[in-house]
Amino acid sequence: TIGIIAISENGHVAAGTSTNGATHKIPGRVGDSPIAGAGAYADSSAGAAAATGDGDIMMRFLPSFLAVELMRSGFDPSVACKVAVSRTKKHYPQFFGAVICANTTGHYGAACNKLPGFSQFDFMVFTSETRTPSLQTVDCF
Ligand code: ASP
Repeated sequence: TIGIIAISENGHVAAGTSTNGATHKIPGRVGDSPIAGAGAYADSSAGAAAATGDGDIMMRFLPSFLAVELMRSGFDPSVACKVAVSRTKKHYPQFFGAVICANTTGHYGAACNKLPGFSQFDFMVFTSETRTPSLQTVDCF
C-alpha cells in the first residue's frame, strides 16, 4: 500500500491509500485499503493515519482508526502508531504491517511490526518549512 496523509495550512487533514492488494489474492477480494476508514482514517479534529500490510488482519483491528482516536486523546503520533500496531500484534504476533500517523499540528510518526526481514520502515515527509522531501526511518518493534 502507498499511504498518504496531508495536512492543510488551516489544520484540515486527509488520508488515502493506493494498493495492488494482497499477493495471490482471490478474485473479488477487497482489502482494507479501498475501504474508507479501514486502511486510512482522518479526522480534522485529531489527525490522520494510514496502514500498509496484511489488510485481512488489520481491518479487524482498525489500527488507523485507533491511532487517530489515541491522537485525539493527546497521544503523540509516534506513540499512537505504536499502540495501534501493538493492538494488532497482541492478536497476530506475526502480522505484517506498518502505520503512519500525523496530528493536526503537523507532528508525525510511524510504527511497524518487526518480522524476520522487516526491521525498519521508511516513509517520506514534506513540510512547507523545509520544502524538500525527507526520508525518515523507524525501527520496527
Ligand atoms: N493492505 C493491503 C491489502 O491488504 C496490502 C498492501 O499493504 O499493499 O490489500
